[in-house]
Amino acid sequence: WLPIGIACSGLMVWWLVRLLRELDSPKRRLQAALRKRQLFVEYQPIVALSGGECVGAEALLRWRQSDGSLVRPDLFIAQAEEDGMIQPLTDYLIERLFIELGAFLAINPGLHVSINLAAPDLTQRRVLDLLMPLLQRYAVRPEQICLEATERGFLDTRQTRLVMEDFRRAGHPIYIDDFGTGYSSLSCLQELPVDVLKIDKSFVDTLATSAATSKVAPHIIEMAHGLGLAMVAEGVETTVQAEYLREHGVQYGQGWLFARSLPAGEFIRYCRQYPLR
Ligand code: C2E
Ligand code: CA
Ligand code: CA
Ligand code: CA
Repeated sequence: WLPIGIACSGLMVWWLVRLLRELDSPKRRLQAALRKRQLFVEYQPIVALSGGECVGAEALLRWRQSDGSLVRPDLFIAQAEEDGMIQPLTDYLIERLFIELGAFLAINPGLHVSINLAAPDLTQRRVLDLLMPLLQRYAVRPEQICLEATERGFLDTRQTRLVMEDFRRAGHPIYIDDFGTGYSSLSCLQELPVDVLKIDKSFVDTLATSAATSKVAPHIIEMAHGLGLAMVAEGVETTVQAEYLREHGVQYGQGWLFARSLPAGEFIRYCRQYPLR
């Protein structure tokens, strides 16, 4: 009996450890955060490089823990992707966005807000089915909700293309996020329906410097012009960068030079300060 007893108690301990681990897993913590509404949305202004007016924003998720500290989104988003938790996050963001959008549109009815979609959001119509009734209920035009997709999201290109075509047919502009950082940048432009390129910060960083990548940005810009795509340069931090981009016909910029991501109330103030003409 002794070996069986030892084996059984070993099994019990193993099971208990697993249970405790499970209770404190990142997935459980994120689920609890959603329940406790610790996640909120900030809006980083997107401005017209020619006139400086605020044309819209990118909605970015934030997580403030009970002790007041912020968890970086690149950490919890990556973990959420691993844990199959990205869809609840996307849904939560969309729900919050529509609650706050009315106040933005009251100041600037032409505003665009873009949201980030991850791979699972791009292979199903779920987000579209979620958006449609909200657009109706809040009287928002579909072209005002733009969808950002990174190349990481194009796991199953065929299925992704079908879903992105549905998004576009419904009137949502498609942005390719972090353009130039993936391996498939060029082929994805050929295969996917795209409206806007977001030039990745790593290229913007090196504009007008001697770094090797500074030679890439002019080609990305030229190619986007050739394809008739609008551009948003991300991570614009200096006036030199903004000036270079403007001179080369990049229409929009986003970055700390203009503003960091702002809570809804501050974003409203920003819209008032830099109104659309
Ligand atoms: P991203 O989509 O490339 O978002 C832009 C990130 O660059 C944001 O970081 C923004 O705060 C930061 N940024 C903007 N301008 C500047 C600048 O001038 N200088 C510097 N150094 N950084 C700048 P954030 O908010 O930490 O987000 C990180 C990433 O997390 C995002 O990268 C996006 O991939 C992901 N993410 C955030 N919210 C969501 C979401 O709701 N859903 C999904 N799927 N991903 C999200
Ligand atoms: Ca983005
Ligand atoms: Ca980027
Ligand atoms: Ca980006």
